[in-house]
Amino acid sequence: MMLKNKKTKKEPVKKIVKDKVKKTDDSKSSADKVKKTWTALRGMHDILPKEEKYWKTMYNNVAKLAEFFQFGRIETPILEEASLFVRSIGKTSDVVEKEMYLFEDNDGSKVCLRPEATASVMRAYVSDGLWNNPQPVKMWYWGPMFRHDRPQAGRYRQFTQVGFENIGVQDPAADAELILVAYNFYKDLGLPVEIHINSIGTPEERERYKNELLNYYRTKKSYLCEECRKRMLKNPLRLLDCKEEQCQGIKEEAPQIIDWLSEASKSYFMKVLEYLDELGVPYILRSSLVRGLDYYTHTVFEIYPVSGEGPAQSALGGGGRYDLLAEELGGKPTSASGMALGIDRSVIYMKEYYQQNQLRVEKESYEIFFAQLGDRAKGRALKLLDELRNSGIKIAFNLYKNSLKTQLDIANELKVPYALILGQKEVQEGTVIIRDMESGIQEIVDQKKIEMALKKKLKKFDEEDK
Ligand code: AMP
Repeated sequence: MMLKNKKTKKEPVKKIVKDKVKKTDDSKSSADKVKKTWTALRGMHDILPKEEKYWKTMYNNVAKLAEFFQFGRIETPILEEASLFVRSIGKTSDVVEKEMYLFEDNDGSKVCLRPEATASVMRAYVSDGLWNNPQPVKMWYWGPMFRHDRPQAGRYRQFTQVGFENIGVQDPAADAELILVAYNFYKDLGLPVEIHINSIGTPEERERYKNELLNYYRTKKSYLCEECRKRMLKNPLRLLDCKEEQCQGIKEEAPQIIDWLSEASKSYFMKVLEYLDELGVPYILRSSLVRGLDYYTHTVFEIYPVSGEGPAQSALGGGGRYDLLAEELGGKPTSASGMALGIDRSVIYMKEYYQQNQLRVEKESYEIFFAQLGDRAKGRALKLLDELRNSGIKIAFNLYKNSLKTQLDIANELKVPYALILGQKEVQEGTVIIRDMESGIQEIVDQKKIEMALKKKLKKFDEEDK
């Protein structure tokens, strides 16, 4: 049973307090004190300011794509009822069987940190009555997911996914549109990717195929790895996910699901491929692609770095059609499709690819550097900076450097065309110096007129200033 909560033995409060007192006993010399430091939990990682340029670029790009393709932002809670995922993803999936962060809430209910968000979005579609709105309802999200997996490169226990869901339509164009969004996300970042794609048809077609697959695997049982033997009993489609060397030959010869699809399912799939051909999106037909989750029907796809590029060839994202999920979660029958892209893994790919190809992420550029000299100038500089905050002028400053030379060196590094200089004299006179960084020519302006003077120099005019 997967909803078992491991009970941790509780330490008596008295003992904890006593230990704490012992460790912070001031009578001991500081050398005796036990110094504890903390690191992030295993499989969790901090995203530091130096990473911001990658994360920000990705977020901005994806928000633009969402706006263009008319997906509305949805944010669902990180904590959900555990049974939501058991019901939607399926009991036999790795995610539900081994990877869920399960807790017992104070009222005894079983809750979990979401391992993915499609089920949450569909839960919201049903429980918030979004089925009453004009259909389809197109939504996107960005946020942390949690899976208690074995950590390794590109695999964390907390990671960020961006996802797009298109609920309320069954149309090959909707599948192609999602794939195009995923493809464009990487294309706009200059990262080459390819789409692996397959169709897993309807549940009935899949059932017939599963039987055929099992018949085939039964004849090979003695050559299979331990895990595959278990899969035969629990989730035969996952046999096609096996990465063990000894099973590869058997997998290659296995029956292919495409041969077990009805004419209608096949022609639906062909239409998706036709759209992709027309869009020029490169794809690879991969008959072994089944995706790990129970709720998929028809089109399934994954996004990979183009062969030879990127880390360990692991998928950057994936998705597909899930026509049965709404009903499974108590809603009316509602066709839907969606996809999720892993941002942590995409950042790793972007860093590696940019480094290999000597590409750079555009740095924040500034137009002005504000230098100050002396205590009074510091306070006034802060005030003037605050007044210029909404001027639309990009200003850099460093209030903690006291030497003018150091500050002008920073201004040179930032390649700003002008610097503002505020010393004691200027504070007294209510003025500020504008220095042309290239010619060194300086001009004194009234503090009340800084914004206008800078805009003139930078040739920035608001509509009403013209
Ligand atoms: P999935 O829904 O499992 O196909 O996940 C979609 C994408 O999310 C994957 O292709 C990865 O980029 C990312 N992802 C999934 N699991 C993890 C993880 N444990 N750590 C980092 N990224 C992950």
